[in-house]
Amino acid sequence: MTYDPNNIFAKILKGELPCHKVYEDETALVMMDIFPQSKGHALVIPKASSRNLLDADPSVLSSVMPLVQSVAKAVQSVTKADGIRLAQFNEAPAGQTVFHLHFHLIPAYEGIALGA
Ligand code: 5GP
Repeated sequence: MTYDPNNIFAKILKGELPCHKVYEDETALVMMDIFPQSKGHALVIPKASSRNLLDADPSVLSSVMPLVQSVAKAVQSVTKADGIRLAQFNEAPAGQTVFHLHFHLIPAYEGIALGA
């Protein structure tokens, strides 16, 4: 599987498509999911060009995970969610639909079921 430089997230990272950006630094962008699975669903997108976890450089993973944790805490604080689901899919059979590495932070609320 190869990386398509024209995938939707690559275009957002290049500023060619709009997004609801909540944070950006030299290594990653954080935005709200356009089809949220729950209130406050955010995506952490490393800027490095990898398709998913299977081809990602380990140095990218080690630099982005502290940001994933910070965003999880921020999302929990802002939404007052009862829990936070971290999700990440690799290839279409596993549920991946946008083929640029990203991490979902999905707030969970007592009594409201999240999708599988
Ligand atoms: P995946 O299934 O690949 O892990 O998730 C891709 C996610 O990207 C989905 O939750 C989908 O709603 C979100 N998404 C797809 N296109 C866009 C877009 O143009 N903007 C934003 N903000 N999210 C998108």
